[in-house]
Amino acid sequence: MKVIRLREGKERSLLRKHPWVFQGSVEKGRADSGETVRVESHSGQFLAWAAFSPNSMIRVRAWSFDEAERIDADFFRRRVEAAVAMRARLGLRSNGVRLIHGEADGLPGLIVDRYEDILSVQFLSAGTERWKQQIADALLAATGCTRLFERSDSAVRQMEGLEPVKGWLRGGGDTTVTLHEHDIRLTVDVEEGHKTGYYLDQRENRALFARLVRQFGCQSVLNCYSYTGGFSVSALAGGATEVVSVDSSGPALARASAHVELNGFDPAHHTALDADVNGTLRQMLKDGRQFDAIVLDPPKFAPSAAHADRASRAYKDINRLGLKLLKPGGLLLTFSCSGGIGAELFHKIVAGAGLDAGVDAYILQRLEASSDHPTTVNFPEGEYLKGLVLLKR
Ligand code: SAH
Repeated sequence: MKVIRLREGKERSLLRKHPWVFQGSVEKGRADSGETVRVESHSGQFLAWAAFSPNSMIRVRAWSFDEAERIDADFFRRRVEAAVAMRARLGLRSNGVRLIHGEADGLPGLIVDRYEDILSVQFLSAGTERWKQQIADALLAATGCTRLFERSDSAVRQMEGLEPVKGWLRGGGDTTVTLHEHDIRLTVDVEEGHKTGYYLDQRENRALFARLVRQFGCQSVLNCYSYTGGFSVSALAGGATEVVSVDSSGPALARASAHVELNGFDPAHHTALDADVNGTLRQMLKDGRQFDAIVLDPPKFAPSAAHADRASRAYKDINRLGLKLLKPGGLLLTFSCSGGIGAELFHKIVAGAGLDAGVDAYILQRLEASSDHPTTVNFPEGEYLKGLVLLKR
């Protein structure tokens, strides 16, 4: 077993059960990509069993802090079973569930979403790449699924020195399935969809939106960054009669329109706009448009804390425009999925947007990702999605 020796004082994060070691903390030791290593403090104390990533800034990702534990196929079986069992206790009303959420489930670099009978999987680190076959076997055994589609085509693989991979790893057939999420139905194509196919992290917030639209009697709804229209269909389910979905992806919008019909709603109540959101908001403001409810769910503007400044301005801009386009008494659901922008900073950005817009609003609720995308006490960095429900005064 190869040993990675840390610089003096650099053992602190592993002692706190935080699973990452950065390049600069390693004093000596090398291993192959994804190889299991023994990580020791400067004085030779055992810290963790970990996967080595020779090309990544995150040089080491811990598998286990227990010296007696062996990293083998059985280890992955245990971790996968525990994560799947946790999801079964959450009482989620959907056949689309995040089963493995990376570090939070003790499996750094592994993302697994279940869509009906298909597992859609991202192997994002050298360690998960190395154990891919054992992990795939464990996933099928723990779920009873026979089909596993690999979506390791995320840009973060490059930082690990890994090539993009996309295709069936187990089983095969049609890559499209129908999700039943709360009271709505949505189709997901695990081959063509974003990430693993869909944004399951917003499931509870979409259901909440349907309830809010009904409660506040919203008729006109603007869904910005709509993707395949999850929030749009939720708005129609809540009784909205004039819903506009805006996204820059044509295929996503085509699916959004199909989802309106799939759920039995009048296509005349929905408009799909293939456009840039920022430009659209500005034009709508010029045209004097107003809405009863607006959703802002943009892509990650800040991939890391280093991008926080530019991202802050971009968030502020769309929130300012959104608040202006809202009727008094209207609802704004606004989100950020940037890990580099914490909840507190996001609230400040939205406050700044309100000030610039000359608008005040009640904060009705603070939102986060669904419980199947958990954050853990030992790895607070895992928190990424945050949102606010605002009621314009
Ligand atoms: N709210 C969606 C998920 C949104 S993901 C849901 O519940 O499923 C972010 C979306 O923003 C993607 O669909 C992407 O195509 C879109 N997008 C990214 N940049 C955009 C831009 N400048 N203008 C419009 N849409 C954009």
